[in-house]
Amino acid sequence: MHPDLHSHTHFSDGRLSPQALVARALERRVTHLAITDHDTVAGLAEAQAAAAGTALTVINGIEFSTCWKNKEIHIVGLWVDPANPALQGLIAEQAERREQRAAEIARRLEKAHIPDALNGARRFAGDGTLTRAHFAQYILSQGKATTMQGVFKKYMTRGNPGYVPPPWPEMAVAIQAITAAGGVAVLAHPGRYQLSGKWLRQMVADFAQEGGGAIEVAQCQQPQNERRLMAELAAENGLAGSQGSDFHYPSPYAELGRNLYLPAGCRAVWEREPT
Ligand code: AMP
Ligand code: MN
Ligand code: MN
Ligand code: MN
Repeated sequence: MHPDLHSHTHFSDGRLSPQALVARALERRVTHLAITDHDTVAGLAEAQAAAAGTALTVINGIEFSTCWKNKEIHIVGLWVDPANPALQGLIAEQAERREQRAAEIARRLEKAHIPDALNGARRFAGDGTLTRAHFAQYILSQGKATTMQGVFKKYMTRGNPGYVPPPWPEMAVAIQAITAAGGVAVLAHPGRYQLSGKWLRQMVADFAQEGGGAIEVAQCQQPQNERRLMAELAAENGLAGSQGSDFHYPSPYAELGRNLYLPAGCRAVWEREPT
C-alpha cells in the first residue's frame, strides 16, 4: 500500500489535468490517490476513467474551506459520493461565497492599482474553482512580485490590499456534509495553521467531537517531530491518521507519494475501524 490522500487538479488550483495527475501517481508507484480539489468534485469522473484498468485506485475526495474560531481550517472528505445532495448543496454554497469574495478581492486590488484582477484570475482558473492562488498567478503575471509566496505576503494576507476575511462556514458544516455523503472527514494539514499547542489540541478535540474521523498525520514536508505529535493527538482523540502530499503542481516542495508513512501504532484511515 502506498496511499496519497490529498491532491489537486486544474479543477481547482492544481495545474495538472486529472489524466496527467493519474499518470504521475502511477509513475510514483502510488496505489491509492485521493483527489481533493477545493470545494469541488468536478475532476473525479475524469480521474476515475483515467485510472480504470491501471494499478491505481482513485478515491473520490474534496477539500472544504471552513472556519473554526475565526481561523481558516481545511476539511478533506474521503470516499464521498459526489452526487450526494447534501454534499452538492454545500458545494453550491461555497461556489457562491467564492464568487462574492472574488469580486471583493478584485475591488480591493483595483484600489491598489492592480486593475482587471477578476477577469485575470478567471483566465488562470478556467472552469475550475476560483481561488486566491489564481489571483496570485495574475498578480505575478503583471510583474508585481516574483514568487507566489511573495504575492501572498504582499497582497493576499491580513493587513494587505487584496485581503478579504474568509467567508467560510463552521467546520461542523463540512463534517456533516461529508458524513452525509458517506465519506470520512479528515482535518487537513493541522500543523499549518500556526496554532499554539493549546489551540491545536482544542481544534483536534472539537473536530473529533463534531464527528471527524481522521487527521492528516503525514505530509511530504513537515517539521521534525510533527508527525509523532499528530499521531499522538489522533490516538488521544480516537481519530485515525491520514497521509497526503497536497500536490498542486510539479515543484521541489511537494511530490505525489513522497515521504508518506504513518508512525508505528497509528491507525490508518484506510483500514477498517476496530470493532
Ligand atoms: P483559497 O482557497 O481561494 O483561499 O486559496 C488558497 C490557496 O492558495 C491554497 O489552497 C494554496 O494552494 C494557495 N496558497 C495559500 N497561501 C499560499 C502561499 N503563501 N503561497 C503560495 N500559495 C498559497
Ligand atoms: Mn490549494
Ligand atoms: Mn488546504
Ligand atoms: Mn489541499
